[in-house]
Amino acid sequence: MKTDIYSQKAWVDKFISRCPADDSDAERVRKIVEMIPVDVSTVLDVGIGGGYIYKELRKKKSLRCAGIDLSLELVKRLDEPAICVGDAGEIPFRSEQFDLVLAADLLEHIKDEFFRQTVSEIKRVSRKYILINSPYKDAIDWPVALCDRCNGEFNVYGHMQVIDTGLIRRAFPKEEFDVVISEIFGRKRSTRPAPLVYIARRFGKVYSEEGAVCPYCFNISIRPPDRNFAEVLIGRMMAATFFFMDRAVPSLLKQGSEIRVLLRKKDAIQ
Ligand SMILES: [Zn+2]
Repeated sequence: MKTDIYSQKAWVDKFISRCPADDSDAERVRKIVEMIPVDVSTVLDVGIGGGYIYKELRKKKSLRCAGIDLSLELVKRLDEPAICVGDAGEIPFRSEQFDLVLAADLLEHIKDEFFRQTVSEIKRVSRKYILINSPYKDAIDWPVALCDRCNGEFNVYGHMQVIDTGLIRRAFPKEEFDVVISEIFGRKRSTRPAPLVYIARRFGKVYSEEGAVCPYCFNISIRPPDRNFAEVLIGRMMAATFFFMDRAVPSLLKQGSEIRVLLRKKDAIQ
């Protein structure tokens, strides 16, 4: 896990340049910070990423903040106080050291084999609260790139888990945690059924082309696969199908693309 994609300069370049991406990101950050309960005075941001939430947290005078990220490149580049390189599966702090542990845009990036360990570490360093923010039910099969060097297929955002309320509840069960706030929000998610995505990819060779960094061989200049006439046609037909399906589904039936959950330890000392 140490030699991960997140430590690659190309990934960090791409990442920092798009954080925060737009106004909805700024709104999201503001809402995360607003969710922090008044009885919190210490916060650990696990996986600070582009640092945009961390910077916002530090503006709150009532909070003392620390942050970790797997990527040395990111930590060096951000140049913020009280941040260090650290693995979410091996958090370099004492048990119950922080009133609140923030896991924003973290859990969806954790591979299956590290997931339980990461969750257990987040619980360990939290004294009272855990705040989770992730893409909600974001399919990991879109957008996917195909590496022309090692043939690896991967989600271009590095997403490896589909986060929903069920997964969060299994990781943080009701015997251990009360849910203080649970909310699905953000722009509506596009309709893109998995079987059609499969057809587009398998028969139309539809792969993301832009700015992908291969997590297997760290290739940064991925070229899309050559496609014959039939594959181009299938790709276009699928793109048109997605377009019309998305417009056919009423907005009311679509879900938001983000979830945030504030959890409180049942045995937390008041
Ligand atoms: Zn590769």
